[in-house]
Amino acid sequence: MRTFQCLALVAFLTQAGMSLASESVIIAHRNASGYLPEHTLAGLSVAHSMGSDFVEPDVVLTKDNVPIVMHDIYLDETTDVAIKFPRKKRPDGRWYAIDFKLKEIQSLTSMERFDRTTGDVRYKGRFPKEVGLFKVPTLDEYIVLVKALNKSFNANVGIYLELKDPAFHKNAKKDISLSVLNVLSRYGYATRDSGVVIQCFDAETLKELRAVHKTELPLVQLIGDDDPTGRNNYSVMKTEEGLAEIAKYANGVAPNISHILKKDQASPIGVSATKLVEWAHRNQLFVHVYTVRSDDLPPGVPSEEFLLKLLIQMAKVDGVFTDFPDRTKAIVKNL
Ligand code: CA
Repeated sequence: MRTFQCLALVAFLTQAGMSLASESVIIAHRNASGYLPEHTLAGLSVAHSMGSDFVEPDVVLTKDNVPIVMHDIYLDETTDVAIKFPRKKRPDGRWYAIDFKLKEIQSLTSMERFDRTTGDVRYKGRFPKEVGLFKVPTLDEYIVLVKALNKSFNANVGIYLELKDPAFHKNAKKDISLSVLNVLSRYGYATRDSGVVIQCFDAETLKELRAVHKTELPLVQLIGDDDPTGRNNYSVMKTEEGLAEIAKYANGVAPNISHILKKDQASPIGVSATKLVEWAHRNQLFVHVYTVRSDDLPPGVPSEEFLLKLLIQMAKVDGVFTDFPDRTKAIVKNL
């Protein structure tokens, strides 16, 4: 049965023009990253065709201030930058996207995520790393493809965009919020109902988006475990008071699985829900939890189905980020 909070979310997303195949929102994490290298246009196409409610691009800036779709501020764990530009390595041993012009980044091959020290892929059962067919897309290219697929599939898949490390960009005298908002507005993504959600781990950035940039786009506060920079206090964000504070500038929160479920010896299944979802809903915030990976389940969790039952039925989250949107969608449909 739908709770009031679920109805509120459905109303919010319906108002925002989102398609909802089921009550739970399915967000294709880094696109269908369980099947194709993360953030490639091929992965986006697969995620879209799997009936995801949203596709999820992470965005960083190039040296010439072009928003590109990439999870890391580094290039060295998802591309062949170390081979093509050995001399552009910084003294810390890393290759940074922000040191490269778009033209240089477009010369790279995008591949399955790997460990830069060993070269081993992060997830062994996934797409072969040696397939060199893909490039790093710009946000422009990504949006053009989403819009085109929405037309050809007669669909309304939304874009759940993450601004990566705004403070890092600011230190380099770059305003990632402004660069991204400019691209979005060029494609008509500016209002609450336009089909784009912006997510960020940095509270100040979200507050600025609302108060300074005056964006109407729905905003989501990502909640992490800790912030070494000290800019964000995620422990406070997980409290009832912290969530009330978030509700002043954001529409939803995205905590990780460990913020939602806790070990509980008193429970017959050994696990219970934290209060986070209840408190968020009380403050009219929707909750989308990251990240469901059928090939990398939390310790002690026997199956994705069991995990989704805990998250959706027991803890009552409103949606999930998943690396395998088709599997997750099929399971959720039958819960
Ligand atoms: Ca992300």
